[in-house]
Amino acid sequence: MTRTFDDDAKYRFATRTIHAGQRPDVASGAIMTPIVQTSTYVQDALGVNKGYEYARGKNPTREALERNVASLEGGRHGFAFSSGMGCIDSLMKLFKAGDHIVCGENVYGGTYRLMDKVLTHFGMTFSFVDTRDPQRIADAITPATVALFLETPTNPLMRLTDLAEASAIAKQRGVLMIVDNTFASPYFQRPLETGADIVFHSTTKYLNGHSDMIGGIAVLIDDDLAARIQFIANAAGAVPGPMDSWLALRGTKTLALRMRQHDANGREIAQWLAKRVGDERVFYPGLASHPQHELAKRQMTGFGGMISVETGSKENAATVLGRVKVFALAESLGGVESLISHPASMTHASVELARRTQLGVTEGLIRLSCGVEDAEDLLEDLENAFTGL
Ligand SMILES: *Cc1c(COP(=O)(O)O)cnc(C)c1O
Repeated sequence: MTRTFDDDAKYRFATRTIHAGQRPDVASGAIMTPIVQTSTYVQDALGVNKGYEYARGKNPTREALERNVASLEGGRHGFAFSSGMGCIDSLMKLFKAGDHIVCGENVYGGTYRLMDKVLTHFGMTFSFVDTRDPQRIADAITPATVALFLETPTNPLMRLTDLAEASAIAKQRGVLMIVDNTFASPYFQRPLETGADIVFHSTTKYLNGHSDMIGGIAVLIDDDLAARIQFIANAAGAVPGPMDSWLALRGTKTLALRMRQHDANGREIAQWLAKRVGDERVFYPGLASHPQHELAKRQMTGFGGMISVETGSKENAATVLGRVKVFALAESLGGVESLISHPASMTHASVELARRTQLGVTEGLIRLSCGVEDAEDLLEDLENAFTGL
């Protein structure tokens, strides 16, 4: 009674996090996927091999990760990359000079930087719009538009885009819809089910969940588009090593467990903060006061552990950041440990001041990535940090 990879789809989410895309090693029976640390594969004879020739193209450890995350997102194909940015860069190589992309104005700072400071040199053009309003998406699409690029919820202001409405527009206008699902993770949101063509992650964050590697992954359903991405992945070569692939694969095994705890802690801390500093200063889609709370409930099954808070000034922000003991001052998010950061001078430092201000990324804004520690310890830490503010 051996399970085949085709069986994976019939199991529920948490079962798939642990088993999808992986089988005990044929040679030894090892329950854990081997870390196949090799650059090349010995061929049996000229033109005869076991499906592996050179590790830029394929690696069994990487393939296990790709099958696993493809299953979690409800896709048919997964392509792992050496970082989230490497993934986005490779996806952008689907396009060419003269192509236009409509992108959310509030996307990850590094995404904006890649588009605005690098890809424009290659003749691609971008419109950054407030994708909370579907009409603005529709209005920004021109005959040259090839893709709609979305992130929801966004970093750090937790703004949402209605994925079903956006995909209806994308389908009607014949443009590809690409969604960065890093913040919600497939446990809480699966954009392919609401019509996205490609969903991707920085695996560095919730999918790995232990802050010990950098990676990216794209998942999709369409076979022809997958063949094009496979070609680019091998041609451009931004692929992850087997050790990092293995770490991400080990991380996804506890994704359901971790996300439930991130979410429980996130809700409790957001409510505490709302009472402490006022609803209007806390950005968390799980709060009834969030302007898009109804949409959040409709398209996500949980809200996760990312919260931003307006402290009122850079001095207040510095006070909080300087006082915390359990929250660690650091960039990044999605690990088991709680992190705290100052978007204006950290993740969004590469975004010009005028644009930052227009987006609402103020000097007083701080961002929390609530980990999976005991909520009481996190609350006590914040209680102390906010004393007198
Ligand atoms: C971190 C992040 C990225 C970039 O991923 P890296 O792995 O750091 O290259 C892209 N999008 C979002 C939402 C992120 O949080």
